[in-house]
Amino acid sequence: MVIYKFGGASVKDAEGVKNHRNILISHKEGRVIVISAFGKTTNKLEEITDAIYKKDQVRFNDRFRELKNYHHSIIKELFKGHEAVYEEVEYIFNAINRAFPEPWKHYDHLYDQIVSLGEILSTKIICAYLKHQHLNCQWIDIRENLITDDVYREASVDWESSQNRVSRNLVPTGSEILITQGFIGGTYDGVSTTLGREGSDYSAAILANILEAEKMIIWKDVPGVMNADPRYFQDASKLEKISFQEAIELAYYGAKILHPKTIKPLQNKKIPLYVKSFLEPGNKGTLIGEYNRYDEDKPIYILKKDQILISVLPRDFSFVFEETLSKIYSLFAKYRIKINLMQHSAINFTFCADMKNPYVFQLIEDLKEDYKVLYNTGLELLTIRHYTEQIIREVLKDRHILVEQRSRNTAQFLMEVQY
Ligand code: ADP
Ligand code: ASP
Ligand code: MG
Repeated sequence: MVIYKFGGASVKDAEGVKNHRNILISHKEGRVIVISAFGKTTNKLEEITDAIYKKDQVRFNDRFRELKNYHHSIIKELFKGHEAVYEEVEYIFNAINRAFPEPWKHYDHLYDQIVSLGEILSTKIICAYLKHQHLNCQWIDIRENLITDDVYREASVDWESSQNRVSRNLVPTGSEILITQGFIGGTYDGVSTTLGREGSDYSAAILANILEAEKMIIWKDVPGVMNADPRYFQDASKLEKISFQEAIELAYYGAKILHPKTIKPLQNKKIPLYVKSFLEPGNKGTLIGEYNRYDEDKPIYILKKDQILISVLPRDFSFVFEETLSKIYSLFAKYRIKINLMQHSAINFTFCADMKNPYVFQLIEDLKEDYKVLYNTGLELLTIRHYTEQIIREVLKDRHILVEQRSRNTAQFLMEVQY
């Protein structure tokens, strides 16, 4: 049994959905297909959530209309008529509409109820289209199968309960195709949750692990895992094969191609992961598997944009001791701040994080209560795996570096943006 994962880019329009069908019919085995929301729907649903929370009716109406028109335009192109799909979709849009007047106390709870609907919409439409095209498929509600805790926006999987349900309900018979949602889950009480942005890769890996899949294929808009993001590095080239270990390092340092949690469930059951292009499905892509070593000599570049560098200094010139560090760390946990790089000296603790985290400035305010805090915004963090001195010299020519850190295999540079 094989798990496929299709991301938002692969189903951003009707052409994408048709291409998806073509990929499915070119294989005959039973499959579980994990799908993200269409295109940038999750971003739009985040804006809708914000408008609901702030009771901004005008903004809500605008974004809601855009979201509805976008989905309707895809349906219109896929089906001629077919009232049943419009009805199903209408039902989901009504749920969003009904959320507006409700008094929502907890933003994260509201977020998961609204944002999770992006994946429900896309899978309902795709499954209806595949059935319309005479494919043997079934829609599965992952919220009833992937059971999580209620830490909204970053829920953790309850492996035992999920194992029971997934192995009962997500087993395709014969050549059947099961269509389900990435990124979302549900609590025991049936409340929707999400696993963190870009979490669909992780969802697919969880299902692969539980179902002991023979392999998992992630379909992307790039030829495979490359040695850099081709959007920023023109000379990026594809890696043929990489080890689980290399893949986990890449994801950890921020390579957007894979969600960081994806590798562990696969590695634990030694399930090979293929990253392939949905634009050239006949090509080989990249194979990630159980190798002893990284078998390419290429350097790998990972660029993280929109970084903030924050320095924390005790006001009275006292040392940064364990007690101070543990206080700072508890604030990281409270605001779910992920640290991308850190350094500390006798009287200074410096770290870099994503500026897009909505809580980062709240963290700064909290830190200011006890410490002097300095920060620089709009920076870039470049990580180079398997670096050489010559590579560093070439890549960093004329760049203004604020912080630098090296280990045996990895060098990191936090720098100002070059215009
Ligand atoms: P999905 O459609 O599954 O959500 P994403 O957009 O999250 O896909 O990931 C694919 C994108 O990841 C590519 O378009 C590419 O710009 C980016 N990317 C970042 N690092 C790499 C890399 N090392 N190799 C290939 N693509 C990369
Ligand atoms: N739709 C979700 C997001 O955009 C999950 C995913 O695509 O992986 O974050
Ligand atoms: Mg994505």
